[in-house]
Amino acid sequence: MVEDPYENLKVTIGAVVMPRTTLVNKTGSWREFKPVIDHDKCIACGTCEKFCPDMAVKEVEEERFEIDLDYCKGCEICAEECPVDAIEMVKEAK
Ligand code: SF4
Ligand code: SF4
Repeated sequence: MVEDPYENLKVTIGAVVMPRTTLVNKTGSWREFKPVIDHDKCIACGTCEKFCPDMAVKEVEEERFEIDLDYCKGCEICAEECPVDAIEMVKEAK
């Protein structure tokens, strides 16, 4: 269970929100394009995991990265940063 960083938060002008809000904000519905990893091309460098602003990329087992679409907002940073172009942005079917 992830602790809710908004609990007991009194929002004032200039309030600083505690870290970890990315774990309670599911941003998946924001997406128009979703990243898809081509595991044949992926060299398991971990760059996508490091650059994702929403911690949506996870190493699910050794040298295998997957994207948690509940948290991915489709910003495309991972696809831009992948050194071997293993991530393709695919239009969401809605
Ligand atoms: S598209 Fe953006 S939010 Fe989604 S996995 Fe890539 S870097 Fe993370
Ligand atoms: S950045 Fe590209 S090559 Fe590196 S782990 Fe992610 S998908 Fe694989």
